[in-house]
Parts: sequence; structure tokens; C-alpha cells
Amino acid sequence: MASAGLGRRRFLALSGASLAAPFVCRGLAAASAELFALGVASGAPRPDGIVLWTRLDLPAGSGPVEVEWELASDERFRVIAARGRGFALPENAHSIHIDLSGLGPDRWYWYRFTAAGVRSRTGRTRTAPAPGSSRPIRFAVASCQNWEQGYFTAWWHIAREDLDLIVHLGDYIYENSWGKTKVRRHGSGAPTTLAEYRERYALYKSDPDLQDAHAAFPFLSVWDDHEVVNDYQNDRSDGTPDPAAFLRRRAAAYKAYYEHMPMPASAEPRGPDALIYGTYRFGEGLEILLLDDRQYRSAHACRPARVADCAERLDPARTMLGVAQERWLRDSLARRSCRWTMIAQQTRIAELDLGKPEEPSFWLDGWDGYPAARRRLMDAIAEAHPANPLVLGGDVHSFWVADLHQDFRRPGPAPLATEIVGTSITSEGPSDASVKRALARNPHLKYGRADKRGYVSMIAGGSVSTARLMAVDDPTDAGSGISELARFAIEDGRPGAQAA
Ligand code: FE
Ligand code: CA
Repeated sequence: MASAGLGRRRFLALSGASLAAPFVCRGLAAASAELFALGVASGAPRPDGIVLWTRLDLPAGSGPVEVEWELASDERFRVIAARGRGFALPENAHSIHIDLSGLGPDRWYWYRFTAAGVRSRTGRTRTAPAPGSSRPIRFAVASCQNWEQGYFTAWWHIAREDLDLIVHLGDYIYENSWGKTKVRRHGSGAPTTLAEYRERYALYKSDPDLQDAHAAFPFLSVWDDHEVVNDYQNDRSDGTPDPAAFLRRRAAAYKAYYEHMPMPASAEPRGPDALIYGTYRFGEGLEILLLDDRQYRSAHACRPARVADCAERLDPARTMLGVAQERWLRDSLARRSCRWTMIAQQTRIAELDLGKPEEPSFWLDGWDGYPAARRRLMDAIAEAHPANPLVLGGDVHSFWVADLHQDFRRPGPAPLATEIVGTSITSEGPSDASVKRALARNPHLKYGRADKRGYVSMIAGGSVSTARLMAVDDPTDAGSGISELARFAIEDGRPGAQAA
């Protein structure tokens, strides 16, 4: 029950009055589990740096609290690599981000926080390999974790994998309540204010399996739509047609996202804007280009959301990434800096026509609503020849493996790039019938599966990159097992995934 988590938080044995003083150390042992009830996290790994995160779980009205942090080379904190102090401030919901530099590459570190005499659990994290390293990178790809529609058992399994990193492609929270399955409830309506978004994150962050995953590996994170509201586009949303009003909501949502995620300081929002796209390198094997498909896109073309084709959809002025991000991506693709070039973004790039031969039909919230922008991206890949382009996607609550082409109706002799779309952690997927029709109508889609929840476990950066599609047996069972549904391999120099 959602109310159980929130109720527990309200029973916090710390008074607002005592917290007005920054140094509070006595009699708080009983609060240990409660003060750090939202867990610890790390993210944005660099060869010499990492971001550490926590949020103190305090009642509204609590004052600033001093937090000590420690980073060690060993689990028992015998060799301290760095330590320091900072203030968890009420204006940041008592969240704290420590953006560290000066660390060693490709190393495990352990970290913990202490505040008000209470110590957090220990988190583990890992820096990225140094520029010369050719070591492949292991990571999980996750998205779409609907609290109500299942237990976060997939996170339990991810936390126990042997990984360097977790890539989160968005829908970290859901603002609305939808779907058939409800194993637990949000317990409140869709957030629109900063206080309400914070409450929603606190609920999701209370999940022990999600906390275990954060404590086990660093995250690279981008948002999709539900961190703000379903299917929003830039400054537009169906429920809030006035852009100025919607941007106020977006500012609240972006601030709450930053407050709850191990994001670098460069991603801190300024009003309704936040720069979350960027480049992450892992030795010479793997470069990850993280995209933001939501903040800068053109408004939806045509109505309703799934339509037979319309002229507006094809307008070359339509953008998915915005001018600046598109230029940055084109320049990044031309650099050829690593053996594998991974574009990690929110939704599916491959075209998916679900219509009849004489009457195509597309879902317009994804890249199918922005075909000119997709063509520019594929043209950039064709011209720049980035090394081994590999696309990761999420959002669509189903597994897809696809060949990417400049023109999906008239594909070239070989694919330009390979796309792997991971299914949701819990969120309900589309029907099997629609997947079968999609596979029959779209030959560049090599694999599709919508009935399973889970994640993708990948190894990338060496002579072969592999994607294991992992599925939990039953997302409504908190102790569910997991199995490998399928495995695909992509060879260096040969775009296109092969069943392995
Ligand atoms: Fe989703
Ligand atoms: Ca989404």
C-alpha cells in the first residue's frame, strides 16, 4: 500500500524543532532506518569522477541538516579515498549531490552518509575505465517502472547481476494511474506541484529492490514523459494547453527529478530547463550518447495519436531533439572516438507501421511522429560512419530488436545501425496480436515481444556486443524468478543483430 510508505515516513522520530539546528547528534539511533529511508545512489560515472546522492527523509518544515559523506576503496571503509561535509537543504527537499572528481579509473568504491548521528547503508559504485582501456562494459538497460502494476522484482535481479553500470531510459515514476493490474496504489492523484512530485518520488524511492539496484551500481539516467506527464512535448501537454502554465509544472517536475536522481551538477534545472543529454566514454570500447527526446521536440502532429498518415507528420521542420541537441549529436557521431557508438534514448527509433498496405498507421508520440528528424539522424549516421552504431530505447513496454535504415520502406543492402529496445520493469505492454502484426508488416523488426516485463543485460565494447533480453516470470509476484528470453549478438563492423 502506498499509504503504508507515507505513513511510515510521518512517524519519523525527529522533531522539526531539533532539526532547525544543523548539528543534531543525540538520541536518534531509532531513526536510522527512517532518515535514509529513500536509499543512496551514485551516477554519471567518469574515469576520474562519480556523483553520490541521498535524500534525508524529513518532515516538511525541517531546517538544513549537515551531512558527512565518505568514499572508500574497501567495503569496510579502512581506506578512505575522499570525505567531506555538506548541507542537505529544505529548498532541495534535503537531497544532496556530491559531484566527485580526482578518483582512479575503472575501480569499485564504497560510499555512505552520516547525518544527525545516523549512518546510511553503504552503496557501491564504479568509475569508468581510463581512455586507453579496451575492456568491454556490462550494463543493464531499464525503463518504465509503474509502481501500481507490479513489484520491482526486475530491480532485485538487476542488483544481483555482475555489472559496471545501469542505464535508465525514463518513466522512473508514473504521474497517473492506468492499466488493469494494481498490486499496490499510488495513494494520491497526479502530481502537479513540486511538493506532490517529491511525494511521488519518495514513494517510488521507498522500494527496497530499487534501492538495492541503486546501492549496487552507478546509474546513467534520462527522463521520458511520465516524470512530468504522459506524452508531453516540450511546452505542450493535452491536459495543460497553456504553455506558460505547463512550463510551471515542468519546472516542478524537473526539479523533483534532479532532487531524486544521482545527476551531475550540470543537469540541475534552471526553471523549466535542464540539460541532461551528454557524452559518457568507457575506455576506447564504448561511447554512450545520452539523448533527451522530450524537452525540445515539436508538438504532436495530427490527431488522434494513432492515425493513418497525414501531411503534417512529414513536415521537414519537425524536430525530436531540437536544433542544438541535433547539431551536438551529428558532431558527436562524426568524432568516431570509441569502438562502439551507443545512442541511448527514450523510445523506439525503428518505424512501426500497424496499418494496411494502402493505409499506413503510426503511433505519433514516438519517432514515427517525427520522420524527418529520424531521417536526419539516419543520414548523419550514413555520412559520418560512426563506429558500430547501436541504439538503445525504452518507453514502449515491449522488447524490440531492429535494423535501422535511412528509408525503412526501401532499405539498403545492409542496416546502418542496430536498435535494442528494452521492455518495462513493470508497466503493461501492448497486445501480442499487435506485435505479430508489426513483425509481419515491418521486416526491419527482427524480434518483438510485449507480454514480458524485465530489462536488457548487455555487454558492449569488444569484438562482439551482446544483448540478453531478461524477463521476470510474474511481475505481480514479489519473489518472482527471472529467465533469459532471447540473446542477440552484434559483431564489430557488421550492423544488425544476430540471434545468439
Ligand atoms: Fe512507460
Ligand atoms: Ca514513456
